[in-house]
Amino acid sequence: MANHAYRDKERRDLILASEALEENRDKSFYCPNPLCNSKLFVCAGDGSRKAYFRATKSAYKHIANCPYANSSVGSDKNEINELNFSFENAIKDLFVKKHSKSSQSDFKQSSYENHDNHTISTIKQIYSICKRFPPNYLYGDEKIGRMILDDRTAYWYPKGVFGFKIIESCVKGRIYDSDKNEIYLV
Ligand SMILES: [Zn+2]
Repeated sequence: MANHAYRDKERRDLILASEALEENRDKSFYCPNPLCNSKLFVCAGDGSRKAYFRATKSAYKHIANCPYANSSVGSDKNEINELNFSFENAIKDLFVKKHSKSSQSDFKQSSYENHDNHTISTIKQIYSICKRFPPNYLYGDEKIGRMILDDRTAYWYPKGVFGFKIIESCVKGRIYDSDKNEIYLV
């Protein structure tokens, strides 16, 4: 699921689900994944903040492995305090060794204990948010495109990637050279 889609096949005319709610709900939109031919329709959820796009027609489903078909991309952000999110701090926290509880149980528990300060914290959650929103969308203190390098944002990084970044990639052939300590991703 995604909260954005495109009006045109070239993926130039972006539309948010909240905007699509205002239009004809029978209208179909294009998946943010340019390789995917699914037809997406807006679903209301429970008000415009929860609106999202879904491939409801069986003849026009998402292709296999499309990140927008995955329900994990549609995690409910209304339960999460977006304003308190700091990408830099969230990534740094991932490098700190945690005691006893797994990050997943932290996530569940903290939503009860400390609702106001609850932000996303795992790689999976951050990745979900990055795929759910368009690159220029500001989430917490950072633009989506500054958190993830994927085929939407690769052109933002002509000189390469410096600092923390989630990189979406594939493996073609050899992934690791143990002599050079290098990994190879496409
Ligand atoms: Zn798709």
